[in-house]
Amino acid sequence: MVEADGNGVLHSSVLVLNRSYVAVRVVNVRRAFVMLYRDAAEVIHIDDGSYANYDFGSWCELSIFAGANGNGHGPDDMDWIRTVNFRILIPRIIRLLRFDHLPRQQVRLNRRNVFARDSHCCQYCGKDLPPSQLSFDHVTPRSRGGATEWENVVTCCLICNSRKGDRTPQEAGMELRRRPLRPAHNPLLNIKLGNPRYHVWRPFLSQSGAAIDVV
Ligand SMILES: [Zn+2]
Repeated sequence: MVEADGNGVLHSSVLVLNRSYVAVRVVNVRRAFVMLYRDAAEVIHIDDGSYANYDFGSWCELSIFAGANGNGHGPDDMDWIRTVNFRILIPRIIRLLRFDHLPRQQVRLNRRNVFARDSHCCQYCGKDLPPSQLSFDHVTPRSRGGATEWENVVTCCLICNSRKGDRTPQEAGMELRRRPLRPAHNPLLNIKLGNPRYHVWRPFLSQSGAAIDVV
């Protein structure tokens, strides 16, 4: 269905709500359109301060209308995606119609989330690096009984990782910049919320919605 985006909008994100309007995760645009196309979800669109629900067909109609009446910008200066025949507005929020998924209560522990918590910064030397040059360090090594948990894993550059080896920071003479803690909010979500295009998500992100997965 979706052909190409041309300007990277396929990488933009869509907040998914359950039937009860509770945020359950963040997905990419492609996944959101698959759910809309299969009638598994509808679009929640905020226009002039009020919420409106659109199924896939009516969302396409709105897109055609907005495209015909505008200069390429839709409501709220939203992004567009190009299909074979026309352009469709990219929704910011969709709502699942069939299942009542529940949000995660705790932020998932994985490399992406740990790197985001640590702002992609090696927790030993302080270098700010791309993910390809970072690794995931167990402060107390696993061979010494160190657990894989938020309080025992940190972002680490490859050089510090190899220097530290199978030792504790004290043994290696290396010092952590910050004590690692479990984040109450998904750090990737916090990064997204810094972008004005996702401000419409805020009313749906209660405390319970803050630990949701972000793709
Ligand atoms: Zn380092």
